[in-house]
Amino acid sequence: MAIDPRDFYTPKVLDAQLTGMIKTREPNTYSARLRIPMGILTADALEDVAAVARAHGRGEVYLTARMGIEIPGVQTEDFPALREDLAARGVALAGCGPRMRSTTACKGTVCPHGNLDVFELAWRIDQAHNDAAVLPHKFKVGVAGCASSCSKPQTNDVGFVGVSEPELDPGACVNCGICAEACHLAALRMEQGLPAIDPDLCVSCGDCTKACPVQALAPRRTGLDLYAGGRWGREKQVGMRLGAFLSEDEAVGAVGRIKAWYVAEGRTKERLGQTMLRLGPRACQEAALEGVPRGKWVELTAEAEERFRGFR
Ligand code: SF4
Ligand code: SF4
Ligand code: SF4
Repeated sequence: MAIDPRDFYTPKVLDAQLTGMIKTREPNTYSARLRIPMGILTADALEDVAAVARAHGRGEVYLTARMGIEIPGVQTEDFPALREDLAARGVALAGCGPRMRSTTACKGTVCPHGNLDVFELAWRIDQAHNDAAVLPHKFKVGVAGCASSCSKPQTNDVGFVGVSEPELDPGACVNCGICAEACHLAALRMEQGLPAIDPDLCVSCGDCTKACPVQALAPRRTGLDLYAGGRWGREKQVGMRLGAFLSEDEAVGAVGRIKAWYVAEGRTKERLGQTMLRLGPRACQEAALEGVPRGKWVELTAEAEERFRGFR
């Protein structure tokens, strides 16, 4: 049965959105949003998507801002056939409306700046936590391999950034100064022939350790910084850093604990960042990092909280 375009945002339309069909301006016409974690598709799957777009859409696709694919031009009466065709090809529809979205990732797995296997972590998070559950609002998770944050994890409800803290072995240093050239933030300067790092400027990107030709600079520790409460929309908020140097297991667990806290505490149509503003970021941090060693909890200063509250 066709949906009347005047029914925009009626329960019928919202039901369609919950199953991956996005209302468009054209009457009776939807975009089918596909579930594509990390934006990775095999060439064969890409051909399947093309075939579905020809058969059920108008033979074109949109690439979304979250590294996904939408097939526009699907008529409501074609929903069942489209779903059947996608299922037969092993392609899933994505979560829309108040649900978790596909996890995004930068290409840190192959990027020379990456501090971890970003694809693997994002996939683990998606497999562990991306279910059909209806939440207070949308819930996005993003992962980046280094402080450059190409996938903008700080604008997600939960974001992770791979970090690597440098440590110098002065005896191994050949005083070449390559590390200072590699540091984009001038956090590392050569002093009396040796690198000196300003901890207030260093963002633990790890570029200096990767550039050192003799491994005199090497990672003291690596891990993941955890951000929560980011969102982009009519109001904007940059996620607050709650944890530092988490292990991958701790990161996967933190997503589940934050999601559970959000389900318990969040109000309908409230994004995680708004729940954190209402109840205080510390409440979210305590839920997120339960069982994680205290040394990995970021001190939530009044200044950091003010920044989190102020940016909208
Ligand atoms: S965030 Fe870092 S690791 Fe990821 S793509 Fe950008 S530069 Fe590479
Ligand atoms: S880790 Fe990055 S920011 Fe820190 S000193 Fe090295 S290059 Fe500079
Ligand atoms: S790049 Fe390595 S060897 Fe060269 S100055 Fe820096 S720490 Fe020393």
